[in-house]
Amino acid sequence: MQNVDYDLVIIGGGPAGMTAGLYAARARLNVILIERMSPGGQVLVTDWIENYPGFPEGLSGADLAMKMSEQAQRFGLEIEYDEVQSLDLKTDVKTVRLSGKTITTHAIILATGASPRKLGVPGEDMLIGRGISFCGTCDGPFYKDKIVAAVGGGDTAVQESVFLTKFAKKVILIHRRDELRATRILQERAFENDKIEILWDSIVTSVSGGLMNLDTVNVENVKTGETQKLGVDGCFIWVGIKPNAGFLDDAIKLDDYGFVITDQNMETSVPGVFAAGDGRMTPLRQIATAVGDGSIAAFKAEHYIENVNK
Ligand code: NAP
Repeated sequence: MQNVDYDLVIIGGGPAGMTAGLYAARARLNVILIERMSPGGQVLVTDWIENYPGFPEGLSGADLAMKMSEQAQRFGLEIEYDEVQSLDLKTDVKTVRLSGKTITTHAIILATGASPRKLGVPGEDMLIGRGISFCGTCDGPFYKDKIVAAVGGGDTAVQESVFLTKFAKKVILIHRRDELRATRILQERAFENDKIEILWDSIVTSVSGGLMNLDTVNVENVKTGETQKLGVDGCFIWVGIKPNAGFLDDAIKLDDYGFVITDQNMETSVPGVFAAGDGRMTPLRQIATAVGDGSIAAFKAEHYIENVNK
């Protein structure tokens, strides 16, 4: 048996990584979790969570993130704040390169999650942080009594549009089809909300503004070809997510969209490397599913490590 720095390295501190860390710490593995920012992942930028069981009144994303991190650390999980640069998975002893050092391990759990996708339209890059935002919780309060656009039709766009109405006097939700993708209860809240106007069958073709701020969102109706200039103070983009898998290179099998392919044991194409949460190819991306993934990944990693050490 070769010496390693850790039995298990967990990469990512969202719900999947924190749960894996909790289970691994309780299994008394020599485990470290690497997180590049603050624990919580996308949960941190979620205003209110009401579909995670056990919290009948709901709770804020920041609160849940903090509770998960506290719980895992209570059982001894070590957390290090650094960004993984690359992995070497060619041998049984795997190497994780951080910005300042390299660590070796028998097993890895990838829980690096996903990030918001951009629209890819002219003007977007220039105006990010100057009117274009991907985070309602962070930037919503800047739009008190203003008019904002929101783009997308999924859970994020609809839930966050409702949240924005706490501040904005009007939210124009721009969706490319004539039906929302979001879960029904979220749709009902949007339809009932007088401050939300939905622009159906419409896509954003470009955004523009001055040096310091966005002021116009140009949209086109995909059925009629009609175009219009929306005068708005901000534009929130919620058109899905992309996996945070850039550092993986070709080491692991990914699906066509870059999500890590696993089996039901969360094991990837490389023995001893597991994946959990939003960065994995999965039919449902929720906190509840990430937590389930994380616990299975830790359980299976524990078995893998036991066998390696025999
Ligand atoms: P999503 O479910 O993939 O929805 C993306 C939305 O953006 C879709 O409505 C899609 O339109 C639209 N879209 C995609 N590309 C576009 C483009 N280029 N231009 C215009 N519109 C575009 O993404 P999400 O809402 O970010 O959610 C991600 C995951 O997190 C999902 O699994 C979701 O269920 C989960 N989530 C859950 C909750 C909750 O449970 N409360 C909250 C937030 C997120 P089409 O519908 O036409 O494809």
